[in-house]
Amino acid sequence: MDDRDGKIWMDGQLVDWRDAKIHVLTHTLHYGCGAFEGVRAYKTAEGTAIFRLREHTQRLLNSAKILRMPMRFGLEELEEAQKAVVRENQLESGYLRPLIWIGSEKLGVSPKGNTVHAMVAAWPWGAYLGEEGMKRGIRVKTSSYTRHHVNITMTQAKTVSNYTNSILANMEATDDGYDEALLLDSAGFVSEGAGENIFVIKDGVVYTPDLSAGALNGITRNTIFHICKDLGIELVQKRITRDEVYICDEAFFTGTAAEVTPIRELDRVQLGCGARGPITEKIQSAFFDIVFGRNPKYAHWLSPV
Ligand code: PMP
Repeated sequence: MDDRDGKIWMDGQLVDWRDAKIHVLTHTLHYGCGAFEGVRAYKTAEGTAIFRLREHTQRLLNSAKILRMPMRFGLEELEEAQKAVVRENQLESGYLRPLIWIGSEKLGVSPKGNTVHAMVAAWPWGAYLGEEGMKRGIRVKTSSYTRHHVNITMTQAKTVSNYTNSILANMEATDDGYDEALLLDSAGFVSEGAGENIFVIKDGVVYTPDLSAGALNGITRNTIFHICKDLGIELVQKRITRDEVYICDEAFFTGTAAEVTPIRELDRVQLGCGARGPITEKIQSAFFDIVFGRNPKYAHWLSPV
């Protein structure tokens, strides 16, 4: 991925893709204290636009605050950087990766006094869990790994180190032939996917774990709340057990990368009819209308680049 043409924004400058490098003694590389975002840009009739740029950038700054990382760049500067990267790389649509990390001045565990850096890259990226998965639904396995407890590495920050847990869970599930992992919290309740929030539908009501289960406060999750309200579908945040998922009518994952991906199976138990369910399809279609700029109500969520 490092050997390609294009530009990456690094600490206020657009640098050539191949030159966007850091030192091996970078603090974050050793101890994992860093934060990032995943953002998408979509090709709309009005041109390319970044979806919910403000919310993603605000979450990045919140992550920095939680991690006590003093930021040199503010909201507007980081928003401009993201737009510039999409423009400079001539992307009609794609995935953006802003990241903040601690520099290499010294390597004790305490990062106090080290510099904090920021970068934004962007590249084309299709359906994260596959085009086929978007239509047919994916197969998911409950992970043997527990999702982070809320008082360990902080679950409302999108931290670099939180993703070791996601990587382990995803590798275990995919090695076993599944598409993605579902993690339970330390009390055994459903938390989230390795990189997605989860929703289950039963008797016409949509349920999602409340944030005390350690799930990230997903921006797509929030978009689903708006969609359900618009469609007159009741949505409840609550503790969800693993077996409630087995007996649900429909289920789906959400995330910036995963968008709205139906789940057709958990632990070899067929969910509902074993395909994308009708309510999931409605929500998925409403989601794509919004991100592609076909729903004027949410035009303010699209920032033209
Ligand atoms: N949970 C985890 C662990 C994630 O990595 C993501 C992706 N950022 C999400 C949930 C969904 O968040 P969002 O909709 O903001 O992308």
